[in-house]
Amino acid sequence: MKITAAGSVPTRAGSPDYFTGKVWQDPLVSAPEPARVSALRVSFEPGARTNWHTHPLGQTLIVVSGVGRVQTEGGPVREIRPGDVVWISPHEKHWHGAAPETSMTHIAIHEGLNGVYADWLEPVAETDYTAETD
Ligand code: MN
Repeated sequence: MKITAAGSVPTRAGSPDYFTGKVWQDPLVSAPEPARVSALRVSFEPGARTNWHTHPLGQTLIVVSGVGRVQTEGGPVREIRPGDVVWISPHEKHWHGAAPETSMTHIAIHEGLNGVYADWLEPVAETDYTAETD
């Protein structure tokens, strides 16, 4: 058993290669092999979001605070709120982030396939991001 004490792992800034706007990541779970689950808490400042991306084995998002947005390619922009749980299927192209005027924090849980947790694509266009939510 390993207990990771609160405050013992530094918060890191999300890379501008993968995110638009300011994003803070707090690593929670990085299980040793043969386990392959990884989890982190991600806080998006208003207007911040991921690039488009996919996950080889899918992803679960649990919204903790604020109001955010998520979209799968070809679908409407959906508003997400605390308590909402989002499952993203393997290879489903999508993005997630804060609302334009409101921050959002979620816990993201995903498994790695050969050490790969996400495949990163292009930034989300402003017109897509600001589309009317469904
Ligand atoms: Mn994702």
